[in-house]
Amino acid sequence: MNGNTRNCKMCQKPMVYSAFSMCHNCLTEMEKVHSYVKKHPQVSVREVSEATNVSAHCVRKIVTFFLNRSMSMLW
Ligand SMILES: [Zn+2]
Repeated sequence: MNGNTRNCKMCQKPMVYSAFSMCHNCLTEMEKVHSYVKKHPQVSVREVSEATNVSAHCVRKIVTFFLNRSMSMLW
């Protein structure tokens, strides 16, 4: 460990440090989920999952992640 890596908050894989605390893959999935939910605020986790091709497990994680942080930029 040289201090430049940490684990992704979403998938727990080791990643290069970034301001987002998440790996590129998770950021991409998050962006997909985020933009879909913005357009369809009342959809269920399963609908989001089907529409974005992100697993329901990840969708739930993403939603929980943002709820925990109450990031104002998101829904
Ligand atoms: Zn990740």
